[in-house]
Amino acid sequence: MFSTKGYATHAAHEPLKPFSFERRDPMPGDVQIEILFCGVCHSDLHIARNEWGSTTYPCVPGHEIVGRVVKTGREVKKFKEGDLVAVGCMVDSCRTCPDCEEGLEQFCDGMVLTYGSKDKHTSGVTYGGYSTSIVVDQDFVLRISDKLDPAAAAPLLCAGITTYSPMRHWKVGKGKKVGVVGLGGLGHMAVKFANAFGAEVVLFTTSPGKAGDAKRFGAHEVVLSRDEEAMKRQLNSFDFILDTASGKHDLNAYLKLLKRDGALTLVGIPAEPEAISVMPLVRRRRSLVGSLIGGIAETQEMLDFCADRGITCEIEVIPMEQINEAYERMLKSDVKYRFVIDVARLR
Ligand code: NAP
Ligand code: ZN
Ligand code: ZN
Repeated sequence: MFSTKGYATHAAHEPLKPFSFERRDPMPGDVQIEILFCGVCHSDLHIARNEWGSTTYPCVPGHEIVGRVVKTGREVKKFKEGDLVAVGCMVDSCRTCPDCEEGLEQFCDGMVLTYGSKDKHTSGVTYGGYSTSIVVDQDFVLRISDKLDPAAAAPLLCAGITTYSPMRHWKVGKGKKVGVVGLGGLGHMAVKFANAFGAEVVLFTTSPGKAGDAKRFGAHEVVLSRDEEAMKRQLNSFDFILDTASGKHDLNAYLKLLKRDGALTLVGIPAEPEAISVMPLVRRRRSLVGSLIGGIAETQEMLDFCADRGITCEIEVIPMEQINEAYERMLKSDVKYRFVIDVARLR
């Protein structure tokens, strides 16, 4: 075991503060990573504050990790010391169920989250990337191209794959009209991917000040979701809408914007329940669906696609000491468009 410095919260209403803990020494199939950057996902905030009711404390959040390999176990063939690598939301799964066999480890009942899951190797829970190092089985470590800026690539590990995967699954591309709800960490990546896939992209936002940025990221049109007349002009016109909003909002308003057979896919997970009207669903055979991150192979595919196309996240780099302030700004939708912690400064 070796000692690692991090930041943790110990209760739902407590701020994050310095926390030291032990990581396991690398086993034969493990990779030890010195963390350079870690993105700040809104899920970190939901979980740190126990908004989904499933948090175990102490909680060290962070699942958008980029770092350098410092040590490898003797069976590790895919990585070597010095490689630039990444870890996302999962660090293990059962490897044998139908979901694992299809590369959809995110749906496996034995999936181990990067933080807050029961740790198979210690008696406690897994600790995430708001920390100086991590030890992960090689099968859950991703390669990062040297073409990508490591800080701006970190949020691809959650915000990137969570928006890329459903758009691939529902075949977003040329000739499709696609809506994105919310321009935060996930939303701004959704706009970039939908544009890169060739779709007509409309951003729905509650923040009038974000319109210019949305267009710069690839939106063809921006609609203020609180403007009822503007919403009416979009009725029955979308093939696909990806809803990334983190707070409570009216889903029925978006169902009505779908064409016949269109799909509203939820990736945002507000803490409060949403009321659904059945009528808009049955009237045009519309679907209301959800999506969870993406599998390991697809995450690598997304990272390689981003390296090829020069796609990265818009980031604001912060020292770890500013994490509590960053959470407060995230709650005010005041993020441009992802906070990334400069973890190396904590060492
Ligand atoms: P974020 O950066 O805070 O962005 C969320 C955006 O949602 C805000 O910037 C805002 O955009 C909009 N929004 C917030 N509250 C709203 C409300 N009450 N009504 C309407 N719009 C609202 O958050 P994020 O990191 O992108 O995460 C978004 C959500 O996805 C979170 O709930 C997170 O837990 C979830 N998530 C899910 C998965 C998955 O696998 N399904 C993975 C990662 C994250 P505007 O200012 O443009 O309106
Ligand atoms: Zn996340
Ligand atoms: Zn499995």
